[in-house]
Amino acid sequence: MKDYITAAIKQESLAALKRLVDIPSVNQEKEGTVYPPFGEEIDQVLKEALKLCEELGMTTYYDPEGYYGYADYGNGKEMVGVLCHLDVVPEGDQSKWHTDPFSATEKDGVIYGRGTQDDKGPTIAALYAFKALVDAGETFDHTVRFVFGTDEESLWRCMDRYTAQERLPDRGFVPDGAFPLTYAEKGLLQLKLVGPGSDELKIDCPGAPNVVPATAVYQGGKVAAIAEALDAADTEYALSGQTLTVYGKAVHASTAYLGKNAITALAGGLAAVYDHPALSFLTEKVGKETNGSSLFGKVKDEITGELTFNAAALKIDAQQSEIMIDMRIPVSYTQEELAEQLQTTAAAYQLEYQQYDALPSLHVPKDSELVKTLMSIYREKTGDHQEPMTSGGATYARSMPNMVAFGAHFPGSPSLAHQENEGIKLEEFYRAMDIYAETLYQLCCQAGE
Ligand SMILES: [Zn+2]
Repeated sequence: MKDYITAAIKQESLAALKRLVDIPSVNQEKEGTVYPPFGEEIDQVLKEALKLCEELGMTTYYDPEGYYGYADYGNGKEMVGVLCHLDVVPEGDQSKWHTDPFSATEKDGVIYGRGTQDDKGPTIAALYAFKALVDAGETFDHTVRFVFGTDEESLWRCMDRYTAQERLPDRGFVPDGAFPLTYAEKGLLQLKLVGPGSDELKIDCPGAPNVVPATAVYQGGKVAAIAEALDAADTEYALSGQTLTVYGKAVHASTAYLGKNAITALAGGLAAVYDHPALSFLTEKVGKETNGSSLFGKVKDEITGELTFNAAALKIDAQQSEIMIDMRIPVSYTQEELAEQLQTTAAAYQLEYQQYDALPSLHVPKDSELVKTLMSIYREKTGDHQEPMTSGGATYARSMPNMVAFGAHFPGSPSLAHQENEGIKLEEFYRAMDIYAETLYQLCCQAGE
């Protein structure tokens, strides 16, 4: 295996990374605004990425509606895809950043800035891996296409449009996960259960669907009785006047079993005092379970493990009640069958099932050509022989067939995506680039037609 990553490539790629990181491409969509769909900044970063690709000799396409773009190189019959995203999550707590989150800054061998790990850093690593092959004079038997999505951190409307309107690559990878490689991802279902309101209980525990809630607050006249019920259940809480706060542990919903759900814990205390179907549902059908077993029985397979279930938000007021739920479904089960079961059970609690978001699962067999090729490159380049992975998280790999998530996060390296002081070690940025160069070489240049 050759080493394509020259000093010049390293230097150019850093400048390119800075161009993308310095644009604060956080979703700024406004109701009623059709174009650009996710705000000016996201549109700007999409155009900048395409401009960069043109400078690298690629042919680009900008979706006139502003949802996605892509860049091609070569005229091969088959197409190898690299699926990236250019939107980022907000900076979080600005005061915790040691550098400007929207100005890529190098410090002690690390490039800091929002998106350096997720996903602008890996995107640039893959793009300059491609550039390194061009510089080395390699010829492309297959076309390579970089697809740039803009709505990964929300609802994937970019990829919905892309897959409906454009050619799907024959195979490829998504540099938006971890090495070695993810070949299976659980299906995702996010939904609301909407039911009757309450004259006596008003509660609002907001939360993002993909996060296990760390706190749940009750304010009202019945704190003493609720506290007593929580004591009996050994639930941790704090009491201050008429405000009762239950504490849990926040984790990503895909690993709900590692967290502690404050909302279901509080619901247990509330149900002892208030009679409401949403509370009954949460205590009788969910409780402390993070695998949905009281709702669905045992939902588990050998490839991706157990179902995860997260009650992410709860709101009850005079008009209605609403529970937000996130489920990650093993690849051997269909979303429809579980949705149907949940619908039936919820109806018995006067709760109506309303779908919020759904993503299909991903499964490219472990012994497929694609997985075997990428794994052998990773192993030879790193000496790390661990097995490819499955995950409850979601990457674009599931948006089309024959795609796997491949890097750029290395095992053992701190995972800083979505956190303050997000950064990527320069050494790992270049190491990922080196792996991607060999990958693109084997997929595109060594076609052996
Ligand atoms: Zn990402």
